[in-house]
Amino acid sequence: MIRFEHVGKRYGRFTAVKDLDFAVSAGEVFGFLGPNGAGKTTTLRMVTGLIQPTRGRIFIGRHDLAREPIEAKALMGFIPDRPYLYEKLSALELLRFVAGLYRLPRAEAAPRITALLEQFELVEWATTLVENFSHGMKQRLVFAAALLTRPSLLVVDEPMVGLDPRGMRLVKQIFRDLCAQEGMTVFLSTHTLDIAEDVCDRIAIIHRGDVVAMGDMPSLREAAGAE
Ligand code: ATP
Repeated sequence: MIRFEHVGKRYGRFTAVKDLDFAVSAGEVFGFLGPNGAGKTTTLRMVTGLIQPTRGRIFIGRHDLAREPIEAKALMGFIPDRPYLYEKLSALELLRFVAGLYRLPRAEAAPRITALLEQFELVEWATTLVENFSHGMKQRLVFAAALLTRPSLLVVDEPMVGLDPRGMRLVKQIFRDLCAQEGMTVFLSTHTLDIAEDVCDRIAIIHRGDVVAMGDMPSLREAAGAE
């Protein structure tokens, strides 16, 4: 679903990401784990086309992100680390607005919105203004908005920040279900080992812009123990 071919990013003379060269399969929950400043957000921003790599190529599905950005971006949903929501809209209005931006036909959007409000336990808040939402409720609404178009790839920067344990469980379960049942791919970043371990099929550990280890949790443990 995602293929990095020797991807790097420099900011001036500073190299934030060195040489990413790996692929993420369809249906996988793939985590980018690393400390602050490791290069996670930079990588996610490159995957979503918000910034361009200084070197290398990124493919989303069959599409080269640099050559076919519209086709590549149509396959994905993105949840940034600090999402922006229109505070003066209700949850329902916001989801209708996003559906309109993506030109989802009304007949298709209405049942989809109802299902997502239910899935993210927001039904009773549907007509409440976003400005009255807690941080966790906003976060759940952001997830609902990102999933409206049924993206093949969901890119999420620090997905669990601001969620309470129940919200976390909900989001983890939704990731697993969507990946298992609909073949959606999730590419997420986190600096929390527990989250990576809990939700990810495979993890890349990034340090100072370099992938220093990659694999599922048991194989990473084994490699760490063997060193
Ligand atoms: P965090 O967990 O703190 O979000 P991160 O792993 O997401 O960290 P990045 O935001 O990708 O890290 O930053 C990687 C490095 O690149 C950091 O040293 C950061 O200071 C630097 N950096 C990021 N954006 C820019 C920019 N626009 N200009 C210059 N340097 C930048």
